[in-house]
Amino acid sequence: AEIPENTALYDDDVIVGRILGEGFFGEVHEGVYKSPSGERISVAIKTCKDCSAEVKEKFLSEADLMKNLDHPHIVRLIGVIEVDPVWIVMELYEHGELGTYLVEHQSALTTSKLTQFCLQICKALAYLEGLNMVHRDIAVRNVLVASPESVRLGDFGLSRYVDEQEYYKASISRLPIKWMAPESINFRRFTTASDVWMFAGVCVWEIFSAAQQPFFWLENGQVINQLESGVRLYKPQHCPPTIYALLARCWAYEPQGRPTFRDLVCSFSEIHRMELEQETD
Ligand code: ATP
Repeated sequence: AEIPENTALYDDDVIVGRILGEGFFGEVHEGVYKSPSGERISVAIKTCKDCSAEVKEKFLSEADLMKNLDHPHIVRLIGVIEVDPVWIVMELYEHGELGTYLVEHQSALTTSKLTQFCLQICKALAYLEGLNMVHRDIAVRNVLVASPESVRLGDFGLSRYVDEQEYYKASISRLPIKWMAPESINFRRFTTASDVWMFAGVCVWEIFSAAQQPFFWLENGQVINQLESGVRLYKPQHCPPTIYALLARCWAYEPQGRPTFRDLVCSFSEIHRMELEQETD
């Protein structure tokens, strides 16, 4: 598909419906967008509550970043409205957040299905890796379920629009410490290798733990000491040993010691293929 050059929309073309949830800048609503060709598209609309010029710039920078992305497993931007009301309009994924979905469908989700979700998120991240883009907030709460067969990574570059110093100070309580690589906790250093830690090391663990919180038995402040003394997340009951072995490689303390997303796509594809074979045996 082609990346749209012009993503400016008119609010006349967007009908706002019920509230889906609360975003960082304001409520997120369900809605319908009427495209220039007359097609009606179900959308999610992010609104911006106290949209001063400064806030507006930060709010819209997420959309700016998303404009350049086009991937089957990344949330699709439809467009933005840049004058009052300032809105970001995205494709709607009716099944909602992966975290909630995992809890609600826990008994029906097979190992191969869970591995398929991991593989899809991994492909989205390999795509970002190729664009030299760092996500920084990979967690099941930031993945949306498009259909029972397909998930999409969202909440993009949440921290890209703010320099790291400001992000740290402005929202210390919002920093996802329990998902972060040691160098991100210690030096606020975020790279593709720290994304690998967040994805394979933590998000995959969440997927096989029915969205339990990683390190739920620790306070945020205890996590770095534990990591530095070599403690890692345990193997979730339903996580295949082959996948757990992969996670262990992504928990290398030194960022250079971790696999790349390209490597991980190969590994997850292979594991997924084997699981499908076993299931049909
Ligand atoms: P935060 O940074 O606190 O996560 P945010 O501003 O990034 O907030 P989101 O978490 O993306 O906002 O959105 C808030 C809620 O709206 C979430 O509960 C999510 O489930 C829902 N939501 C957001 N985008 C979509 C979408 N495209 N389709 C369906 N639901 C969505």
